[in-house]
Amino acid sequence: MKRKIKRDMQVAETIADVRRIRAGFDQSVGLVPTMGALHAGHLALVKAACADNDAVIATIFVNPTQFGPNEDLSNYPRDLQRDLDSLEAAGVDLVFTPTPDVMYPTDHVTAVEVREITDGQEGAHRPGHFRGVATVVAKLFNITQPTTAYFGQKDAQQVVVIRRMVRDLDFPLDIAVCPTVREADGLALSSRNRYLNAEERAAAPVIYRALQAAGERYEAGERDPAALRDLIQAMIDAEALATADYISVADPVSMAELQEATNHPMLLSLTVRVGPARLLDNSLLPLSLNTRTGLDDTLGNPHARHL
Ligand code: AMP
Repeated sequence: MKRKIKRDMQVAETIADVRRIRAGFDQSVGLVPTMGALHAGHLALVKAACADNDAVIATIFVNPTQFGPNEDLSNYPRDLQRDLDSLEAAGVDLVFTPTPDVMYPTDHVTAVEVREITDGQEGAHRPGHFRGVATVVAKLFNITQPTTAYFGQKDAQQVVVIRRMVRDLDFPLDIAVCPTVREADGLALSSRNRYLNAEERAAAPVIYRALQAAGERYEAGERDPAALRDLIQAMIDAEALATADYISVADPVSMAELQEATNHPMLLSLTVRVGPARLLDNSLLPLSLNTRTGLDDTLGNPHARHL
């Protein structure tokens, strides 16, 4: 544990309060942005931030601009008191819990657009999603002024987008990436897993099994992206309750869909509908890259594309 001072956790709802409290933190400040309904995946980011930094800020904000018109904004799970208790127990110093009007004054007209790397995968299926994400994350960076911000591998394209935004717009901070935290049967933890009934929950681990099967095929020498995509598709198709929205084998920096066999790292990602839930998961290949160091070096990192 790096931190020497243990402060009582503070909760702020206004930008002015965050700036005032932030000004009292010296040296390194870690930021963990979340939409709340916290689970062990979020808390792994908080734990990493607490281990690395002198002070830690978490944010809880269900950002309306990253939800499409037919998505689950109004049903998105919210449990503020429980979240605050978990963050306090984990050692967070400050939690920012703005309302939408604090983040978006009615006359706001500015947004951040990250082009090209948002054209495929989630970007293609959720028009405007990454514009909402990039804009809110840019605002959170400006409000909280972290030295390092922590994001989960679970939302891999989001990591690629944020890293490129940080580079292109010269934000003075580092991005750290933490591996996906999973249930014992491999299902990636997600606030949306609570939409699943018992039968759907039992079907959902097919997503992880398919990623692992493709990973094993890769380790056995397969380098053809189409063969890996087909293997995943066949496994999802074999599960009656699961339907793939897309299955992608992409370059982990440009997010371009791969057509040719390559020995460079690949990002497998997919979104699968199981009942009312749209579940997202991914894996880097080779599988040995699915660690904090592997992710830091590879995912969205233009300096390490030819490992
Ligand atoms: P969300 O509240 O869904 O916006 O997620 C907040 C942060 O937690 C994002 O950086 C996510 O990628 C990360 N996250 C969500 N689920 C997981 C998980 N299962 N393992 C690791 N990180 C996660």
